Amino acid sequence: MANRIEPTEAQWKAIIENDKASDGKFFYAVETTGIFCRPSCKSRPPKKENVRVFQSADEARSEQFRPCKRCKPTGERLPDHEWIELVKEYIDKNYNEQLTLDLLADVSHGSPYHLHRIFKRVTGMTPTEYIQKLRVDKAKQLLTDTAKPIADIGQLVGIENAAYFVTLFKKKTGTTPLSYRRQALNYSSMEVMNHDRIQS
Ligand SMILES: [Zn+2]
Repeated sequence: MANRIEPTEAQWKAIIENDKASDGKFFYAVETTGIFCRPSCKSRPPKKENVRVFQSADEARSEQFRPCKRCKPTGERLPDHEWIELVKEYIDKNYNEQLTLDLLADVSHGSPYHLHRIFKRVTGMTPTEYIQKLRVDKAKQLLTDTAKPIADIGQLVGIENAAYFVTLFKKKTGTTPLSYRRQALNYSSMEVMNHDRIQS
């Protein structure tokens, strides 16, 4: 990133030691989560290479980072929809990794219980339902756009267990991955045939 400012040794020490005396002197954002904090924040220590330092909360805000729900670096509470937006963005980027409610709560600086409840209220889905829907949608794309084996597609969308992938896919779409692919292929070859007919 263009104006990426890495923490100095002293700043990094303040971050990992949750140093209250450094609050107000600088703020730090974590690129992988999109959140910024006060140095004293008790959230899980980030990886140093993902940290950016800002002199003010406004600066962090202007770079699209969102204030942490836990340490409230702007003094204001992060609105629920913004918090959930942040969690969704994280899922959208990492759907092919192993995702648990605890992990999502950790990266979004909230509690698992609270996250589950607010996520459902804002989106109408639980985090698990959202992740499953996303994975099945991505799998549909891969089934029609690639010739990859079913088990590989499961893995590519974050589901290691091939049998579980088939079960979940069927539960969400009413059909197995294999017949979904066949139907999609038949449909597109019919389109080609119709197209040929019109041409001749
Ligand atoms: Zn924080």
